[in-house]
Amino acid sequence: MADDAPPLVIDAHTHAFPPDWVADRVNHCQKDRWFGELYEAPSAKMIDAVELISAMDAAGVARAIACGWPWADPGLCREHNEYLAATANASGGRLAWLGTVAPASPGAATETERCLALGASGIGELNADAQGVDIARPGSLADVAEVLTAADRPMLLHASEPVGHRYPGKGTATPDRLLPFLAANLDLRVVLAHWGGGLPFYELMPAVQSLTRNVVYDTAASSYLYRPEVFRTVLDVVGSDRVLWASDHPVLEMGKFLQRTRRLADIYPEELAPIMSENARRVYRLDDTVMSVESIKVPE
Ligand SMILES: [Zn+2]
Repeated sequence: MADDAPPLVIDAHTHAFPPDWVADRVNHCQKDRWFGELYEAPSAKMIDAVELISAMDAAGVARAIACGWPWADPGLCREHNEYLAATANASGGRLAWLGTVAPASPGAATETERCLALGASGIGELNADAQGVDIARPGSLADVAEVLTAADRPMLLHASEPVGHRYPGKGTATPDRLLPFLAANLDLRVVLAHWGGGLPFYELMPAVQSLTRNVVYDTAASSYLYRPEVFRTVLDVVGSDRVLWASDHPVLEMGKFLQRTRRLADIYPEELAPIMSENARRVYRLDDTVMSVESIKVPE
């Protein structure tokens, strides 16, 4: 990557929690099975929005998209959404946010509408396994998808690999199980996290590529899963307008992952601006939500 005039960086996938939940994580480990699986280990980092912005300052990241958590309980989703809406609104444009909804419970479509009215840039990161949804079943997430399609707002979905090492939170949203969902929602903008669990590689098949015209991939947790060559390989298959740079901070520390990307990823100079910020702006329609990115002061 060229060092001269680096483009603005938007981290398209991060997580933040209300500070009192960070202080009392044990309680939430008991309330939510999936959360407990990931966060019962004291080494698993959990941060609030203030710490997220500090990490952005340290890394030189202009903006981040903050996600909550795929709670199974709609009440926790609602509270989390209120926290993210308030912190994003107070962040001077540094944070955009995605609403979280519990798709297996009634009211998910209404909560989706409420999030969009509160300024959410989309919904996510939803997690089929955490939230009791069979992603391969016809009609999965249909009511949430319908609201998002009508509003032209994206859904960020956790995706994982059918192969490789096991890790807490991996789940079963693998490419073969995601394709029926994509086929049923061709007009929905979908962001598949973690390089889509390897779906980009199957885009060499025209039958798969025909289902992904509204699908983009984020790089969240990339170095936890893949060698740096994944950037060049996926870019060559899907093109530079369908990859969003993202860390999954604090899973991967964003500053370290940014340096690692700059040092090791073989990204052509003309691909930098799309991958590091422009694609996220377009897909999440960031300029329609809050102030334009140019007006945000980037820390030195
Ligand atoms: Zn994820």
